[in-house]
Amino acid sequence: MTSSEVKRKKLTPWKLGAWYTRDEYYLLDRLIGYSKMIKLSRSGVEKYLACKRCFVLNYKFSVFPPSLPFTLNNAVDNLCKNEFDYYRKRKEPHPLFLEHKIDAIPFDHPKLNDWRSNFKGIRFINSADGYNFGGAIDDVWVKPDGQLIIADVKATAKNEFNWKETWEKYEYPKGYRRQLEMYQWLFRKNGFKVANEAFLVYFNGLKNEPMFNLSLKFELHLVRLECNDDWVEEKVKEASSLLASDVFPKASYTCDNCNYLRKRWKVSQTV
Ligand code: SF4
Repeated sequence: MTSSEVKRKKLTPWKLGAWYTRDEYYLLDRLIGYSKMIKLSRSGVEKYLACKRCFVLNYKFSVFPPSLPFTLNNAVDNLCKNEFDYYRKRKEPHPLFLEHKIDAIPFDHPKLNDWRSNFKGIRFINSADGYNFGGAIDDVWVKPDGQLIIADVKATAKNEFNWKETWEKYEYPKGYRRQLEMYQWLFRKNGFKVANEAFLVYFNGLKNEPMFNLSLKFELHLVRLECNDDWVEEKVKEASSLLASDVFPKASYTCDNCNYLRKRWKVSQTV
């Protein structure tokens, strides 16, 4: 019987006396499905929300806009993680929690290092809807009732740190909240109880100190965000379906990068 006959008669191979059992057939089918699924990241979904064309260019054609590594930010992230790990080992609250009356301690879990790794992260795979979605967290804390609090570390250097003003004036803080909401959704999908509150541990570099003395001083701000992950699943599905389709979305007319490329192209046609 040819494969088209198999399809026509809606027979599955395990019914045809193949060497594998029904369970093995479904396992194989799932594994092949997983390997065909594009691994979607938290920043990928954020890109999808910002510009669908850039998202498709990144994921399907490996075309990325130029960017520089944020090495100073990474150093701050790392030092902060080390500090939280110190209190995690001792099962004690970080002094910041006491100062801000957060009843929690850093969460200890055998998978913590995977969740914090950019190459692994925490993932959720839905083969029925065809997505494999994940993200890497900075930290997670646990309340006495077992609810997890997701935290992300940010670094900046402003003369005056004013979160309220930044929130009202710019779009990027909303992206930070979406980031936390995506992590919350991933933890919930992995079976954890998760609090709606989440925190940004914000380090503000003091750039007006009289002397450098080879040390950069920071002030620390804890920003509490009330989150709602209701939107996440739908956007993950939409982003995955766009990748599975042949659609190549239009570029935005307000994006500096594409406007630069358009103008460059026009000039190159005339000279
Ligand atoms: S408009 Fe162009 S450069 Fe800008 S985000 Fe979209 S595809 Fe990328």
